[in-house]
Amino acid sequence: MKIKTSEIVISAVGPKQYPEDLLPEIAMVGRSNVGKSSTINTLLNRRKLARVSQNPGKTRTINFYIINKEFYLVDLPGYGYAKVSKTERASWGKIMETYLSTRTNLQEVVLLVDIRHEPTEDDKLMYDWIKHYGYGTIVVATKSDKISRSQQQKQFKIIREALQMNPEDKIVAISSLKKEGIDKLWGAIEDLFTA
Ligand code: GDP
Repeated sequence: MKIKTSEIVISAVGPKQYPEDLLPEIAMVGRSNVGKSSTINTLLNRRKLARVSQNPGKTRTINFYIINKEFYLVDLPGYGYAKVSKTERASWGKIMETYLSTRTNLQEVVLLVDIRHEPTEDDKLMYDWIKHYGYGTIVVATKSDKISRSQQQKQFKIIREALQMNPEDKIVAISSLKKEGIDKLWGAIEDLFTA
């Protein structure tokens, strides 16, 4: 994918602010601190478009980035940050449910998990949720520079089993630090788009 232009259109606090042109959307979701902002910046080849967390768990907006004026990359709020209150958790759930259940132009959801760890209960719920709504899914295993290549294959297996992934769903390792796996991820996104 050649990124000609990318810009943030809106940081939406509610559905009324979602873009109305209904271009195709690809959403990104994952645990706070998993590396979602870094991955978005790396995918778009921008250093600071998405903000790398200073205040983890506090972002409760849905950020819409328009790419090449053709589609949106949608940054969904992260989950699983230990210090959020019950009320904040409920508000996260409502934002996600509204978005996932009503967004007819949403084509696929990219779920980010940390390559080093077994997916958390929240990750498992998130994967099930994406599947429940019938979206195409790619799992991105982040921070791949932290482990060796042989370890990566082992971790893929652990992640696939823990999430009970559909065999046809792809898993792609990414390192934003080393800029690795980016073309592979764009390829997987494009494959789903055109499927
Ligand atoms: P977010 O909360 O999911 O948006 O995560 P961030 O993108 O803000 O990243 C969280 C932390 O992980 C930051 O300290 C990043 O520098 C670090 N990080 C993100 N991606 C990578 C990566 O590919 N490799 C390494 N080693 N660290 C990363």
